[in-house]
Amino acid sequence: MTIPTVPTPATLDAFWMPFTANRRFKAHPRLLARAQGMHYWTDDGRQILDGIAGLWCVNAGHARPEITEAVSRQLATLDYAPTFQMGHPQAFELANRLVELVPGDLDHVFFTNSGSESVDTALKIAIAYHRSRGEAARTRLIGREKGYHGVGFGGISVGGIVNNRKFFGSLLPGVDHLSHTLDIEHNAYSRGQPEWGVHLADELERLVALHDASTIAAVIVEPIAGSAGVILPPKGYLQRLRSICDRHGILLIFDEVITGFGRLGTPFGAHYFDVVPDMITSAKGLTNGAVPMGAVFVRKSIYDAFMHAPEDAIELFHGYTYSAHPAACAAALATLEIYRREGLLTRAADLSRIWEDAVHSLRGLPHVIDVRNLGLVAGIELQPRSSAPGTRAYDVFVAAFEKGVLIRTTGDIIALSPPLIIEPVQIDQLVTTLADILRATP
Ligand code: PMP
Repeated sequence: MTIPTVPTPATLDAFWMPFTANRRFKAHPRLLARAQGMHYWTDDGRQILDGIAGLWCVNAGHARPEITEAVSRQLATLDYAPTFQMGHPQAFELANRLVELVPGDLDHVFFTNSGSESVDTALKIAIAYHRSRGEAARTRLIGREKGYHGVGFGGISVGGIVNNRKFFGSLLPGVDHLSHTLDIEHNAYSRGQPEWGVHLADELERLVALHDASTIAAVIVEPIAGSAGVILPPKGYLQRLRSICDRHGILLIFDEVITGFGRLGTPFGAHYFDVVPDMITSAKGLTNGAVPMGAVFVRKSIYDAFMHAPEDAIELFHGYTYSAHPAACAAALATLEIYRREGLLTRAADLSRIWEDAVHSLRGLPHVIDVRNLGLVAGIELQPRSSAPGTRAYDVFVAAFEKGVLIRTTGDIIALSPPLIIEPVQIDQLVTTLADILRATP
């Protein structure tokens, strides 16, 4: 296939780019003009192997014609329909299909347009749920250090990444944070879940003792923290959080924006870890990244608690103009069909041993101080330059892009999370390219 080049816009100035050093980027831009399968092509026609599924979202690979056709058919048939006091068949169809994929009795779904909206929706549902049951004092929320839960005010309040919080005022009141579970001293180079750190879950008991359970609405954690640099839950940690929440009537929310839709070799991380939360937030892989969409999965008992309102009352004063947008529903239905037909929700499990061996082969290379992996995710932590933390991994990112491989970095941690259609030979290319770059990086 010939990939024609695409002209670079006359100026890059007007677009204020998110989470980007705008001036640095605009001085040395990297423009992705096309994508297909495992690859991007730059505006000047260079092929780039996608090692991060776009931004952890393109699980079935790029430009799937089934999704393109479904979206285009949908837009031609019903371009937009509100879902406030109204509905359209695709929304109900998608909800029915989705709840079959989630564990336990999370059999209701609320649609949003992003991971951030899913998180804020779940936090609001948690507080309103307790209120609807006569426990209006349960408003406190508990997140975790280094957690990433998007960029809404709720999400940055329960989130624990300092740069996402410190510029934005006092945030939500009544929020506490558990410790994160990253500990290189005890757990460096663990394959899969680390052994050390289950006791960190007991901090939740300490917060309950401090505030009293009657004031706490929910705990939110990512089963695997992605954005902060691939932080894994120690063995038994999520189970222990679950049992402490159960003991005290606190809702447990898993933010599965990254771990949902096959990333760990199971439909959701909750399946992998064998822990059923009370809500799951998701987005990204739901539509294969093709159209923005998020979803919050809610346990039956939570939904039912709201249904005790008078029959003609709106049970939850919350929603978005684009909740269950027809184009997003069409994209999601087509995506789920691809996942089913190609067995992609379990493919990460088939590849996980090859993946694990490949990423752990980077151990011992210059600057590498830890390698972490699970499913088709890996984090490779580099020793920061003492004078300028973060610059070493950034240099590796730039060099990888020059050599035709897209990775992601956060601080001095490299994150890998390729489309689930990746082939072993491409895993090899990804890791070999990284190894060459690490050897050449000062
Ligand atoms: N939660 C988690 C765990 C995420 O990884 C992300 C995005 N990386 C979000 C929430 C926010 O999603 P979005 O950018 O779609 O708002």
